[in-house]
Amino acid sequence: MKIELAENYGFCFGVKRAIKIAEENKNSATYGPLIHNSKEISRLEKDFKVGLIEDYKTFKSGDKAVIRTHGIPKNELAELYTNNIDVVDATCPYVTKPQQICQDMSEAGYNIIIFGDEVHPEIKGVKSYATHGAIVVSSPKDLENVKLGEKIALVAQTTRKVEDYMEVANYLIPRCKEVRVFNTICNATFENQEAIRKISAKADIMIVIGGKNSSNTKQLFSISKDNCFDSYHIEDENDLDYAWFKDKSFCGISAGASTPDWIIKNVLDSIKKNVNE
Ligand code: SF4
Repeated sequence: MKIELAENYGFCFGVKRAIKIAEENKNSATYGPLIHNSKEISRLEKDFKVGLIEDYKTFKSGDKAVIRTHGIPKNELAELYTNNIDVVDATCPYVTKPQQICQDMSEAGYNIIIFGDEVHPEIKGVKSYATHGAIVVSSPKDLENVKLGEKIALVAQTTRKVEDYMEVANYLIPRCKEVRVFNTICNATFENQEAIRKISAKADIMIVIGGKNSSNTKQLFSISKDNCFDSYHIEDENDLDYAWFKDKSFCGISAGASTPDWIIKNVLDSIKKNVNE
């Protein structure tokens, strides 16, 4: 069986940056998971004494708090500073961008619409910057009963599919006087998405590696599944079932933006060992 990695996969710029920041700040704690990958979080804890705190109110004066790649709500960040916490901000600059747009455009009188997942930490953070509130939608359907203002600013969760974002923009444009559409979908996601689209079109089995709660891995998996019926989302080599590979001739592999190289290597080695030998 031929095994091939997608042209682009795995760690993105923002995650590499956040992990480097965490490694440089030993004896600290991240507020919420730094990235959506529990295995990498355990490694940081074990090798760098970077812990995990789920409630920002438990940080005490003088503690060091590393802010995760997805960012946090504006009021919580302000509170950490007020409480004398040593804040090390590892928010990805591609996430800071929609936060800033929400703030600037609300102040300029635009109604903010965010295309994304309301309960995702990134969106909770981004929404908090909209001074006068924001509507979060996951498809144009969510807008059907909404009374739209005249001036709309639209931003997207960084990991969303461009095609889906365009559907929301297309719904709004004929219905509002002014729609400012900001392309806040990040390139890393886009490159990984393009690459998986390509490889899944020719593979007869696809393995997509990433945390089960990783939004961008789920997006990759959904693109893969559209092209290749036998697509599997796994967290690491322990989730592999070698029966999947029976009679397959081309296995494509991709990984989400928060999947470390060491996990990808373990998966590759296990497939090579158990299927190709
Ligand atoms: S996927 Fe993009 S936005 Fe998210 S952390 Fe990576 S570089 Fe930043």
